[in-house]
Amino acid sequence: MPKLPFLFPRELALLQRRWNKEMRSLPVTAEPWLAAKARQWDSQTLESWILKHVHTRGAREFARTITRAVLCAEPRQVSYLCFLEYLRQGESLESLIGIEGGAQQDKFAGGAWQIPQRMAAQLGDSVQLDSPVHAVEQHHDGVSVISNGHTYRARHLIMAIPPVLAAKIRYNQPLPAKRNALLERMPMGSVIKIHVAYERAFWRLRGLNGGVVSNNRVFNVVFDQSLDDDGMGVLVGFIDADHAIAMSATDEATRRQQVISDLVHYFGPDAAHPIAYVEQDWTAEPWSRGCYVAHTAPGVITSFGDTLREPCGRIHWAGTETATRWCGYLDGALQSGIRAAQEVLNR
Ligand SMILES: Cc1cc2nc3c(=O)[nH]c(=O)nc-3n(C[C@H](O)[C@H](O)[C@H](O)COP(=O)(O)OP(=O)(O)OC[C@H]3O[C@@H](n4cnc5c(N)ncnc54)[C@H](O)[C@@H]3O)c2cc1C
Repeated sequence: MPKLPFLFPRELALLQRRWNKEMRSLPVTAEPWLAAKARQWDSQTLESWILKHVHTRGAREFARTITRAVLCAEPRQVSYLCFLEYLRQGESLESLIGIEGGAQQDKFAGGAWQIPQRMAAQLGDSVQLDSPVHAVEQHHDGVSVISNGHTYRARHLIMAIPPVLAAKIRYNQPLPAKRNALLERMPMGSVIKIHVAYERAFWRLRGLNGGVVSNNRVFNVVFDQSLDDDGMGVLVGFIDADHAIAMSATDEATRRQQVISDLVHYFGPDAAHPIAYVEQDWTAEPWSRGCYVAHTAPGVITSFGDTLREPCGRIHWAGTETATRWCGYLDGALQSGIRAAQEVLNR
């Protein structure tokens, strides 16, 4: 552990305490626009808040690094109110970034992709793949969804796609201006996820846990993703926020070189010779346009936020961004789907 200037850890502790106190003042109903200080907090970016309230270089860098890691956005792009609500949804800063007892504690053996695959297997033919919806038409007795020249009719529709993509759909009855303004102002974060495999988990042999959070390298968050079977070693990590946008504009060979160079910086020359490298650039994924979640700039929550879960005629809104707990996570997506289904059943 490097020696830290005395003031930095002290300010870090104060910062965490202050964030946790301020997020607890937000409504538990996930209506941050109703908070007593909503306008004040939504009138500034997280970066301007940091510059005003955080004084040591270390604590400022910590705040910026945390924002990139949890929202995949730069603090200058995010409203302070949006950031606090994200903390509140994830219970606290510690639980959001924590491994033991925190959001990073568990993983699905074999990968989370199995969840939709197993659900689809149960649903059978009612799942239509490769069918992007490009238009939604509301009628007095139902709603039609148009995709690949096919029209699907239903009494109600639950839209569970990222807001920025919902804004691109053509609606025969235009969405209310306020709702449309919200959808158009909820950009996704930017992230490239990368797995790097080695013949063995060499870092474990040296007593290292494989975890990294860096404030100045491109491949800035890394975890040990190896199975606990003494076999192949796997590191998983992320390039996020501005770095992701910059690296997305390069090619895979350039990104690979950068990632390996960062791993050598963290773990030494053993990291120079992986046996496999797999990357997924979520910024280029046309049906996500980024990850992990949408964020908002100043003014958006207090101007348009109250339309977030408000049905528009026969259209109900789900998706992790509409969750009241764990927005940005699978839990939030699930919770929002149950809530939207209940809304339809209650009509
Ligand atoms: C790299 C990465 C790591 C993550 N790690 C974690 C984690 O460790 N833990 C965790 O809980 N969460 C994690 N998340 C977040 C989690 O994946 C999301 O919170 C969750 O997937 C959101 O679910 P959703 O149903 O709201 O949206 P999505 O999963 O984005 O689903 C939306 C679906 O709509 C489809 N779609 C989009 N547009 C259209 C259209 N026009 N017509 C038809 N279909 C359309 C898309 O193809 C997609 O299948 C991670 C996300 C990423 C990208």
